[in-house]
Amino acid sequence: MKYSQMLLGVYVVWVIMKLSETSKITLWGDLGKMFEPKLYEKDNGPVIVIVTSTTIKNFRGEVSYSTTTASKIYINLKTDYVASLVEKFSTISNGVEVIERSNVNKISPEEEMFLNRMNIEELLKTDWSPQLKEYFLTVRGKITEIDNTFGWYYISCQKCFRKLELEDGVYKCSKCNNKCDYPLVKYKIHIKVEDKTAETTLVIFNDIAESLLDTAANKLFKQTTNDVPTEIQSLCGREFVYKLKLNTFNLKYGHENFTVSKVFNLNEKLEEQDELKKIKDHKEKNNNTNEENENKNRKELHFKDITAAKDLEDSDEDYHHSIFVKL
Ligand SMILES: [Zn+2]
Repeated sequence: MKYSQMLLGVYVVWVIMKLSETSKITLWGDLGKMFEPKLYEKDNGPVIVIVTSTTIKNFRGEVSYSTTTASKIYINLKTDYVASLVEKFSTISNGVEVIERSNVNKISPEEEMFLNRMNIEELLKTDWSPQLKEYFLTVRGKITEIDNTFGWYYISCQKCFRKLELEDGVYKCSKCNNKCDYPLVKYKIHIKVEDKTAETTLVIFNDIAESLLDTAANKLFKQTTNDVPTEIQSLCGREFVYKLKLNTFNLKYGHENFTVSKVFNLNEKLEEQDELKKIKDHKEKNNNTNEENENKNRKELHFKDITAAKDLEDSDEDYHHSIFVKL
């Protein structure tokens, strides 16, 4: 087992899955601390680690895992099965090997823009597990229309950034429980997006819209009209890759209006590579029934084992540092 200590209390452990296969698992928070390398210095291994309730990512055929708040870790559990694994691995493993601190856990924008990539039809037709609380994926699509049914902005509290209600001509925050003297104008743009397969509606919130449009919402705001400003209108016809955060409303109730957590400029070369890879994978799958079964299992796990990602540090980070990425 190889081990790498990361910044922010994030730990990455490479786990040998079979005698020849390795995979990466990210251990968040206290679970990572269990792997303080000093603890294993004198250990001759092999160390068999069982991690439960993880999320699974599949990037171009490379599967990696990440712990959730529900994860538990068992090290050299005293069972016959673990004993048999110790025996099996004893010929190739010499205990824990520490890898120098690196940026290995940071997912690159190039990787991120293909995270759980789907087309829009797949997005709309996927039968999500009811246990799923939150899920990230990416789609590619062209903006066809700005849907202004609910307007393109909202008025927010300057303290908690919640939407304010107008009561008797005064903006009031239901959370801060008082009148708001300096309400802020924030973007909340509903865009219609299409690809070759289908069409759907996405919602772009303030930070992303601001970097996409390169201007603040209050600069486009006019007291006299609610029409969509030309700056926003000009997004129509443009094509991007969107990282979406599916929430309970999307997953449980099947509502659209998927929240965009990041926007990427298209990188045609990478898109092409991804297409070719998918075609190649598809062919390989058909040639190899074993592999097909394995992928099927992976997919099932994928949807079943993802528990509340809400408390995960990485999703928090995604949420607060939502940015528009230029490649
Ligand atoms: Zn407030």
